[in-house]
Amino acid sequence: MPLTDINSLLRLQELDLKLRDLESRHKLLPKEMKALIAKRDELLAGTAAAADKVRQVELAIKAAEGEAAKLEEENRKLQQQSSLVKKNTEYQAMLTAIDNNKTKIGEFEEKALLLLDDLEAAKKTALKTKEDNNNTIKMIKAEFDELFAFSKTVEQEISKLKAERPNRLCGIDPDTMSLYNRLLSSKSVRTPVSKVEDGVCGNCFLRVTPQCLSNIKRDKFTTCDNCQGLLYMEQEDND
Ligand SMILES: [Zn+2]
Repeated sequence: MPLTDINSLLRLQELDLKLRDLESRHKLLPKEMKALIAKRDELLAGTAAAADKVRQVELAIKAAEGEAAKLEEENRKLQQQSSLVKKNTEYQAMLTAIDNNKTKIGEFEEKALLLLDDLEAAKKTALKTKEDNNNTIKMIKAEFDELFAFSKTVEQEISKLKAERPNRLCGIDPDTMSLYNRLLSSKSVRTPVSKVEDGVCGNCFLRVTPQCLSNIKRDKFTTCDNCQGLLYMEQEDND
């Protein structure tokens, strides 16, 4: 291991950790963008539902008015027929039918009138919902655009770091390199190379063994007995 210059390794690690951070940030972006699109769609559906409520009330009013008109027409016919009827009982029956229709017409007209209040309320709600939702959608769109631009920046940064990486491989021997790469891809190790401070490993935070310390003093760096991470120490040169 003494073949490797610890500073080369630290420079490589600095790049790799930056790369790892950017890549994990980049991985989250599609999910965040999808969530924004889902939120927008939900708001658009809310606006459409409020507009639909207005249409429903309008249809109900038309239906009530239609029923009333139908009965009016019926009464007109009944009145025409009643003038031709000779029998008193028939005539009385017609008058009763006309009266009944008038009552129903009154009911339908009242219903239509009450629905007009509902229509006003539904229109107000629809307008307010549309306004509120459009404002929120505008903010969502801005957030989405920002995320999109950010993802482009992150992608550029990642490509730059990847292009730079080969330049940072010199000064590292193959054995150390393969150990380092293994540690870098390991989920249990946060940083492949960490400093021993006050006798404690900077990766697993456990006290390192005296053997480990003497290895570091001899070779400049070694592996932690506990986490297998690479360890170095800021030390006075006592060779
Ligand atoms: Zn450790």
